[in-house]
Amino acid sequence: MRIFDTIVIGGGAIGLSIAYELKLRAPKMKIAVLDKGQCGREASWAAAGMLVPELEWDDTNTDLPRSFFNLSIESLLIFEDFVRQLEHVSGVDCELRKEGILKLLAAGESPDSWLERYAGLGVHAKYWDMDESEKKEPALAEGITGIHFPNFFQIDNRKLVTALVSACKALEVEFFDYYPMLDARLQNDAIESVECDKDSFSAAVYVLAAGAWSSVFSTLKEVVPEVRPVKGQMSMLQMPNAKFVRYTGLWKNFYYVPRNDGRILIGSTVEDAGFMKTVSDHVIQSFHDTLESVIPNSVFFSPLDKWSGLRPATPDLYPALGSTRLGNLKIATGHYRNGILLTPITARLISEIVAGEPPSPLIQPFTPLRFFKEMAATRNGTAGRV
Ligand SMILES: Cc1cc2nc3c(=O)[nH]c(=O)nc-3n(C[C@H](O)[C@H](O)[C@H](O)COP(=O)(O)OP(=O)(O)OC[C@H]3O[C@@H](n4cnc5c(N)ncnc54)[C@H](O)[C@@H]3O)c2cc1C
Repeated sequence: MRIFDTIVIGGGAIGLSIAYELKLRAPKMKIAVLDKGQCGREASWAAAGMLVPELEWDDTNTDLPRSFFNLSIESLLIFEDFVRQLEHVSGVDCELRKEGILKLLAAGESPDSWLERYAGLGVHAKYWDMDESEKKEPALAEGITGIHFPNFFQIDNRKLVTALVSACKALEVEFFDYYPMLDARLQNDAIESVECDKDSFSAAVYVLAAGAWSSVFSTLKEVVPEVRPVKGQMSMLQMPNAKFVRYTGLWKNFYYVPRNDGRILIGSTVEDAGFMKTVSDHVIQSFHDTLESVIPNSVFFSPLDKWSGLRPATPDLYPALGSTRLGNLKIATGHYRNGILLTPITARLISEIVAGEPPSPLIQPFTPLRFFKEMAATRNGTAGRV
């Protein structure tokens, strides 16, 4: 049996950043990260790295979406400091790009209703008319204009997780790659140990951050909300030079993200396909066709790679963050399409509660207990009254 103060289950951007932040707060804490494979190689590797809060939600249900918007904005506000410190500790440049993000509008589409909404949310957004769009992003197809968000960024998410692994190692977090947790052993409403095929692990506190796989453990079924995998396919092309496309572009359900070395990522799909990570040629071709309709000269870009990843989604599509009915189990999962954006704030909020500090009000709406209200009410015979 291996014994630690804190064990993090799952070494994606979320689990790694929690281990990192916790070690900065409590340097003497003995922390282990367990991963079923190589840390950082699942959704956090597959992502595009856009740091864009969701701006369009159904206004009839405002509580959770509004809290989520506030959480996202808070994460964005602390993102640069988080990354600069991480780069300092790890020695890895995460390639945070701050030129802003462009929401593209079809020829003739009016920006007015969008601008009104963004102003209402307090988000800085500026319309680029045809002349300005052509000047700032000459690769765009004729007639396409854009709304520029100067305060939204993008980061190379693969570099981010590489930096997190390096920083954690520098801070003496212990890594157990290829140690899948099989299940947890419970006693007296707490986890006594977690079992891997090669060994058992015990700790004062456990943080479950296993992404799309977070709800597969049978003994935790009644405390961990259902989390399902939502597949997203991606393609990557090489541009003739790194400045060929300058801004990340959002075009309806499609986006493209240029990287510093001239690669450009394009995607993505939102598919309920279980844990299968197959990539379909016709989907990738449709990405290339859409890119060509927005950036005509992309027809000359060379294909480099294609892949898919599994986003972790809870039933209400918002993350599950915080304490559970098991006294020593904290959860950080269900980040769905926004886990890279939410990395710094999740690390801060979860490490605060693990370190025994008072929880921030920001975390409260995302309590995992919200998914169990109905179950508790049924058990107490009060169904329908909660
Ligand atoms: C195509 C695509 C594009 C995306 N684009 C963006 C974007 O632009 N911006 C953004 O903010 N977000 C984006 N996301 C979402 C983001 O990638 C996820 O929300 C985020 O990576 C989730 O992080 P995670 O650490 O929870 O999960 P993961 O990165 O999946 O990590 C979970 C880890 O847990 C491990 N694990 C699983 N089971 C076990 C077990 N039994 N024992 C031990 N370890 C286990 C896994 O091996 C994995 O390493 C995108 C996602 C996809 C798929």
